[in-house]
Amino acid sequence: MRFAFVLVNDRTPFRKTWCLQCCEDIRGSYLREIGTQLPYCDYECYALFRETLAEQKDRVRAAS
Ligand SMILES: [Zn+2]
Repeated sequence: MRFAFVLVNDRTPFRKTWCLQCCEDIRGSYLREIGTQLPYCDYECYALFRETLAEQKDRVRAAS
């Protein structure tokens, strides 16, 4: 699985944003996935979320 993301350093976010993985409020710098534009507070959360997604796909494949 390829990771594609950008590190954003935005001290004045124009809207409230929270991490997709841990649901923490995001302030200052954060990580945004290219393509989906979804925000995560750091690489750890991003990797965890991708891992969870991959596991869910495997489960669906195994069930069908
Ligand atoms: Zn997070």
